[in-house]
Amino acid sequence: MNFRSLLPLQAIDHRLSQLAHRKAQLPERAKADAAKKALDSARAEERKIIKRVGDITGEVNRLEVRGRELDAKKAKYESQLKSVVVMREVEALQHEISTINADHSSLDDAELLLLDENERLEQALATLQVSVPTLESAAIDAATALASAISAVDADIAAANDERSRLAAGVDAESLALYEQVRSRTSSAAVAEIVKGSCGGCHTSISPKEQAELKKVADSADARCPYCSCLLVV
Ligand SMILES: [Zn+2]
Repeated sequence: MNFRSLLPLQAIDHRLSQLAHRKAQLPERAKADAAKKALDSARAEERKIIKRVGDITGEVNRLEVRGRELDAKKAKYESQLKSVVVMREVEALQHEISTINADHSSLDDAELLLLDENERLEQALATLQVSVPTLESAAIDAATALASAISAVDADIAAANDERSRLAAGVDAESLALYEQVRSRTSSAAVAEIVKGSCGGCHTSISPKEQAELKKVADSADARCPYCSCLLVV
């Protein structure tokens, strides 16, 4: 086995994991998400307003019909009033007419409130309808920027994978299998050199005696840091 040949492989693996992290954390991703969210919320608001405007139109029509019914009833009572002479009947009709007047006035108030609301909604809708196309193009631009950032990282990842295949081809199968096994069990270094008397993986000092022992088992599965268990190049 030859542990030194694993060092460049580990470097490229490190680069691959950095690239995966970069791909997941692209600033363009947050921008694209935010632009889409702004567009979705404007569109939802637009739909909500359009629905409410439709409801108001229906309600106003209903009040208008009811108003015409009251008008007809009132006209009928007023014409009856002309031919009635008994005081009690006159008073009864007058009472009916004043009830109708009060009902009509409530209808008119309700209709006015609805028409006011409708006007505010129409203004809000007009503002939204101006902003939606802008939000749409911002969302498209942000999605395009994200796609291009992703394809740039993907190109780097593909290049790093090619490099990894090339490097792995130069490593003996046994060392490679051992490296993969150690790597799968740790998030820190799988293989390291001794740098200035310390393990390059965990930076713990390795005594001259320990180093002498390690040299005896160099490039074997036993050549490991006594502290972090990474493979040591000695
Ligand atoms: Zn170590």
